Amino acid sequence: MKVIRFAHALFASVMLVAAGGSAAASQAAAPVTAFVNVAVVPMDQERVLENWTVVVVHDRIRELGPAASVSIPDNATVIDGRGKYLMPGLADMHAHTWEEEDFPLLLANGVTTIRNMFGGPIHLRWKKSIVAGEFAGPNIYTAGPIIDGNPPIWPGPVVENAAQAHRTVAEQQAAGYDFLKIYSRLSSEAYDAIVQEAKAKNMAVAGHVPDAVGLHAALSTGIKSIEHLSGYEFLARKAIGPGEAASWARLDESQFESIARETAKSGAWNCPTLVLFQHRVATEESEFLGRLLARDEMRYVSAATVRSWLPQNNFLKNTTPARAASSREKGDTLRKKLVYALHKAGAGLLLGTDYGNPFVVPGFSLHQELRNFVDAGLSPFEAIRAGTSGAAEFMNARNEFGTVAVGRRADLILIEGNPLEDVANVNKRAGVMLRGKWYSQSQLASALDELAARFQPKSR
Ligand SMILES: [Zn+2]
Repeated sequence: MKVIRFAHALFASVMLVAAGGSAAASQAAAPVTAFVNVAVVPMDQERVLENWTVVVVHDRIRELGPAASVSIPDNATVIDGRGKYLMPGLADMHAHTWEEEDFPLLLANGVTTIRNMFGGPIHLRWKKSIVAGEFAGPNIYTAGPIIDGNPPIWPGPVVENAAQAHRTVAEQQAAGYDFLKIYSRLSSEAYDAIVQEAKAKNMAVAGHVPDAVGLHAALSTGIKSIEHLSGYEFLARKAIGPGEAASWARLDESQFESIARETAKSGAWNCPTLVLFQHRVATEESEFLGRLLARDEMRYVSAATVRSWLPQNNFLKNTTPARAASSREKGDTLRKKLVYALHKAGAGLLLGTDYGNPFVVPGFSLHQELRNFVDAGLSPFEAIRAGTSGAAEFMNARNEFGTVAVGRRADLILIEGNPLEDVANVNKRAGVMLRGKWYSQSQLASALDELAARFQPKSR
């Protein structure tokens, strides 16, 4: 709750700054901001537009163009963009937010949109409150509760037949969820019924490829996004049977090209969440655990959450394999090769982290995933696209977010280096704009400091 109050205060102070820009501005006037002399990285194609002006009115981009051709409104708060780059805010396309404490972390890292992959009533409430401007949070697209077979892995609706599929899809649509999240234990029959219902109701199906369905069938029936490259490990299963880590370490690379082509042809997107697997730690790996705990971003994680992430306490404890390090590294290398094969074949990729999982810290982890995509062989433009314009295309929301263009929501990051030269430059932030509200780097930093002081009082 405290964070929400903080966000309120931040929101209010930004409004004051905006109103202070013009004595004539009435209370009802929409806040106006102009970024001037800035290099725009619009992310519609690989280009940089030097020395442009971008005018934001209320929560939308109203006008942009070369500095000489755009006049700056009298009542605008002017942000000097000299030597800086303005790019769209990032989307984390595989997120699990259950606490408001995530929001300042996301905002401070330029993450302005999330695709929430396990929804409940709280997400529908947050969505409304955030749109109403009650507090600062990302734009949320949310799944409903996870739909699984019997017995389910997580608490949520169980679907075993067509009647249950009909009811569950109708309920989730009526409740206001944006898409359906399916899971590993669905039967073939249940999966088919869900996909049919979803098509009839124009809802996207995203999630794990169910074990009983398999990748080929999932691709041929219209799954819209596959999470964590689930289903691809079947390439190794024939030889050694199920078991994620072991399968990944033994994948047969020679099949990557054909399976990537099949994926591209199906129109399915992949959200590989490479960063998730990089943070899996086994009980006996004390040195690796020590390194994870020593990272700077752990200051923003509560002691209770850290405890729940320790290998002996977290929900993976019974499945974390021995010799985790070698299968983690081998798996990582192979996943990156598969990501590159998918990319080369023209299959859609989404930038996502699966934060909420052990040691995957909201916001910070999305920058690691950007780096992962570049390490896999994508250019910085292609990597960033997976979390901006590509993500918007996937969500059928190209007019809403993902590019810097007239009419788009003003979700923007101002940075001190060209992101198309190096994705690390996305971390050199001068500030973030969320729905037209400007947060300077110092405001963002004090929000983080406040979190750290709450969570790590002894170290202050
Ligand atoms: Zn997830």
